[in-house]
Amino acid sequence: MLRSFSSHLQGRAMRVALVAAALAIAVLVVTVPGFARVFGGAVPPPPANPTSADQIQNIDQVKTAIKAYYGDTLDTTTVDPVTGLKDLHTFSPTGAYANEVDGIVSEAKWYLSHSQHAQTGPGTKAVLFDVDDTTLNTYSYEIFSNFVYNPTTNAQFVNAEVFPAVPHMVGLEKYAESRGYKVFFLTGRPGTQRTATEGNLTNVGYDVKDSNVYLKDYTADTWLSPCATTCTTDQYKTLTRQHIESLGYDIVANFGDQYSDLNGGFADRTFKIPNPMYFLP
Ligand SMILES: [Mg+2]
Repeated sequence: MLRSFSSHLQGRAMRVALVAAALAIAVLVVTVPGFARVFGGAVPPPPANPTSADQIQNIDQVKTAIKAYYGDTLDTTTVDPVTGLKDLHTFSPTGAYANEVDGIVSEAKWYLSHSQHAQTGPGTKAVLFDVDDTTLNTYSYEIFSNFVYNPTTNAQFVNAEVFPAVPHMVGLEKYAESRGYKVFFLTGRPGTQRTATEGNLTNVGYDVKDSNVYLKDYTADTWLSPCATTCTTDQYKTLTRQHIESLGYDIVANFGDQYSDLNGGFADRTFKIPNPMYFLP
């Protein structure tokens, strides 16, 4: 009886300790910026085949949280290319999104400044950036479209070159150049949007004149022949990085907001830029 009571106490003490440890981790995740990212604490996706509504986040609450994360701000200077009004929304430069990107950029600068450790392959050291929501921020379009992509209105935004830079990324691109890295941009935008893409990157401050910008062009890009017009984003981006490395570069860092930007290798390290707005497989 005594022994059983004692083991009951030990079990209870153990449970209390476990609960305390779990609480401490939860507090760390909530209060320490970057903790969740570093320790892989991303919110899991809902099940593919939910059996209860309780397994799915409420979509309106998610939209509200996204706006709070970006620090939703009315942009009183940029003209909406569809309505002609100054009614676009943008992120706050002091919001959680900008702060989180700032932390990632600081980590990336430290990494790029230690290229003797960073560079694992032969060749000229290089960095590679995705475009949408890695170097250009498309929050304005997501709010305009209420998070529903439409190729026609999206092309109007792209062609009007209205997207602001992702906070701190222009500084990172220039830092990489100052450290001797060759800079590449790789986007899933079609080749027909090359002029607008280079125009928008330039008008927010990126140095694209010495850079190579890769857009999706199945006819010209012979290295895509293994999958041609059926390339997934993973394949398109991986084959293009492989092509770049075959030209004599070592991609030391690959920056993207989608996992399909980062999968597939041909980069010494990947950096995930936050994007809770959409998912591209
Ligand atoms: Mg992107």
